[in-house]
Amino acid sequence: MALATTLMMGDPPWTDEYFMREALRLANKAAVADEVPVGAVVVRAGKIIARAHNQVELLKDATAHAEMLALTQAEAAVSDWRLTDCDLYVSKEPCAMCAGALVHTRIRRVVFGCADLAAGAAGSVINLLMMPTLNHQCEITSGVLENECAQILRDFFRQKRDARGTIGRREAH
Ligand code: ZN
Repeated sequence: MALATTLMMGDPPWTDEYFMREALRLANKAAVADEVPVGAVVVRAGKIIARAHNQVELLKDATAHAEMLALTQAEAAVSDWRLTDCDLYVSKEPCAMCAGALVHTRIRRVVFGCADLAAGAAGSVINLLMMPTLNHQCEITSGVLENECAQILRDFFRQKRDARGTIGRREAH
């Protein structure tokens, strides 16, 4: 019943900002857990079916980006590896690994907050989501709650630098 309601409601409050707000909340959760603050949700028919934040440190797994974890959850939720009627919201532009996974799952649309000029694979460094030679292209919407999504990353890395300055350098990653 809830699903039918959300389908009929159409636009507000089911806006891109609404779902990005949830991705941002998850990014905050990552920051509290001392993970690089990135959060992601997968939305299907106006309903969040997966939510995750970056867990690289906790899982000691370089592939445990928010998007990867959210995609796995979403696949379980729909009992299919195809997510053709799903949209992914992520606070930071996806990297090449995540963009590759998004193409593999045939996600319909990718909405991200801030760009990643160093590693972004949704237009900044490369655009793997819209490669005409791959078998699937995703729609892209960028810059949703851009400032807040960038600010949480800036704050996190500033704190890291400050901590390094006072307690000495941790081992390089
Ligand atoms: Zn990634």
